[in-house]
Parts: sequence; structure tokens; C-alpha cells
Amino acid sequence: MIFLDAAATTPVRREVIEAMFPFLTNQFGNPSSHHELGELAATALEQARAQCAAVLGAHAEELVFTAGGTESDNLALKGIALARRAADPTLNRILISAVEHPAIVESASYLRRVHGFVVDVVPVDASGLVDQGAFAALLESSRPESSTADESQASSGGVAVASIMYANNEVGTVQDLPALARLARAAGVPLHSDAVQAAGWLSLDVRELGVDALSISGHKLGAPKGVGLLYVRSGIHYEPLIHGGGQERGARSGTENVAFSVALATALGLQEAGRGAAVGRVTRLREDFIERILREIPTALLTGHRSRRLPNVASFCFPGTSGESVLLELERRDIVCSSGSACAAGSDEPSAVLSALGMERAVAQTALRFSFAHDVTGEQLRAAGDELIAAVDRMQRLGGK
Ligand code: PLP
Repeated sequence: MIFLDAAATTPVRREVIEAMFPFLTNQFGNPSSHHELGELAATALEQARAQCAAVLGAHAEELVFTAGGTESDNLALKGIALARRAADPTLNRILISAVEHPAIVESASYLRRVHGFVVDVVPVDASGLVDQGAFAALLESSRPESSTADESQASSGGVAVASIMYANNEVGTVQDLPALARLARAAGVPLHSDAVQAAGWLSLDVRELGVDALSISGHKLGAPKGVGLLYVRSGIHYEPLIHGGGQERGARSGTENVAFSVALATALGLQEAGRGAAVGRVTRLREDFIERILREIPTALLTGHRSRRLPNVASFCFPGTSGESVLLELERRDIVCSSGSACAAGSDEPSAVLSALGMERAVAQTALRFSFAHDVTGEQLRAAGDELIAAVDRMQRLGGK
């Protein structure tokens, strides 16, 4: 099998299993216990936090371990929005981009339905890049002294938090996060970014990026499913979602998952160490793959930005087919990829991301995403290309059935 669905998930790396193993067995202590076993666990947890902080260029106290990317996104958006509005009741708005993951979209929807926030969606262009002018205009209305804000925006209050993903999970488009962060900073609005797909491929240095909060998920990096990380710049207050014993400095109660935190730190460190070499190599392989597919399947459309894209994501639409049928045909040929994103899989609705890029429903339903791990080979991509070309040809001749 050739697995080209690394953006959905990755296997746990052997070094990661070895690093976490002691904390599942003989060093099984609870970090809150006042005995040696507990202290060993607490030390391991803090070392894991420090290792992650080094990759992010952050302070260890700015990091919270969570149960995954979804929880990190929820905690960031809800936590910051609720804390900021509690401090200033006029901060009643949230900005999210039109291509966010459901973890952000649904958190924003919850804040609207249950807490009465107004949610503004920042549009993207056909390549998935956020419209910086529109973002600036929406932020502008947040400034108390703003005179250019239009009436409706001004009357609905200032912006409590903005969230714009670093790299998109369906089409791989990479945002110009430093530029967006400068706009948010100038307006005094905290900017969160979902870096779940960027982690392992792009720099996560939060000071260079200029973001105030950043989400990461372990299972995209060779750590287990069910562990994640949230960075929140010190000085930005956020409400916890889970209340209890006050672990994680009160940001997330519950006995800490020491083994998985160690796993995440190990995986993140390994990915970061291999990143430089992997990016150059995988980008070249991705380019060869994209060029070949566009050349040999004249009807194929590349989705997302041509160059500002994740090194490991090649995403297409193949008009005249259905994404699902090509996916199944490829699986029969031992190639595994994704139609739309795994999180939205199983629904017949065309992807909200592709719709936001202005793609027609019928074309959006033919989308396929190929996403690669650090160790993907040219041979694998040549074989996958052969099968894809044959599968699309077969499906187009069958009339997309
Ligand atoms: N954000 C993005 C961009 C993702 O791609 C995913 C998972 O696919 C998530 C968030 C959710 O992460 P998790 O599966 O760890 O909850």
C-alpha cells in the first residue's frame, strides 16, 4: 500500500513509542503526587513542555497540553473570546477566515448561538489566501477611535479574537501569517492560528509569526491521536473549558497525560530536526507529481495556491469523475488518499473550503488530496501518478459513476 494521506494522520514513530513507554509502565506516577514517582512524572511533563517551547520559540508557561488539535482550537477561540468580553463587554465580535477547520467554525458557531457573539467571516481568493484588505477593514472597526468603520460593524462592537489558519488542510494553501498578525496587532486584536497542518513542515516560531495563540495536533506528526498543544502568549487571558483540580496552571484541569505529552514533545522535536531536509526534497517531489498530473490529465485542476502551499500537499479536482469513485478505484490499486478532508468525509456536501474558493458544487465534488510524509519517495509518487492517471481515465470514460 502507498499511503498518501499523511494530512489525515500518521503512524506513531518508534522513537516516540520508546520515549513514552516508561510513563505508561514503571514511571506511571501522577504529576500531582508528593512522592518520588509523582515527581518523576512532573519532571517529565515539564521537560516535554520545555522541549515544545524550544521548537515554538515560546516560554514553557505559555504552553498547555490538550487532547488534540480540536481541543486546542476550542480552547483558544472560546477561551480568549470569553475572557476578553468578560473584561470588556463591548468586545462582542469574532473574526474567522472562510477556510477554517470545523474545530474553529463550530466553536465560532457555538459562541454565536450560546454567548451571542457576532461572527464575521474573512473572505479568501480563489487560491485560498485570506483577503488582507477585508481582514484589515473588519479589524479596523475594532478600534475605539475608528472613524472609517461602517455603522453596522461599529454598532456590533469590537473584535474579541481573530482566528486564521496557518495552512489549509484541504488545499494546502499557506497564509502570510506575519502580515496578518501585524494587522491584528495594530488593531489590538489577539490572533489565533490553527497550525495543525503546518507543524512539521513550516516554521512554528511564534515570535517570528507574530501570533498570539497557536494550535498543534500530535497525530499529524508521528505522535498518538488524542494529544495536542496550545500556545497562548503570556499576558493574553483565556477562560478554561475544563474545570477541576487546576492542572496546567488552571488552563485545563484533569490529571495530565504524561506519556502523550512526552510523545508529542519527542515527535515535534524529531519533525523539527528533519524539517529542513524534508521540505526541500518533498517540495521537489510534489512539484514533479503536480506537473505530471496536470500534463497527463488535461482536465485536471490544481486546487489551492500554486506556490504558497504546504510542501506535502497536492490537491486536485478531476471534472467528469466523482472524488469518491476515484478514491475507491485508487484504493483497489493500493493507493490511499483522501477525497475532501477526513474530518468532513462521509458527508455528501461539497467541501465548505472549496466553496469558499468559489468552486462550483459539481467540480468541488471531484476533489482529491494527496498528502505526503517526510519519508515519501519518488518511486512511490511515480507509481501513484501511474495509477491516478489510469483511474481518472477509467472514471471519465465511465462518466463519473
Ligand atoms: N485543524 C486542522 C487544520 C486539521 O487538519 C485537523 C485534523 O484534521 C484538526 C484541526 C483537528 O485535530 P485533531 O484531529 O487532533 O483533533
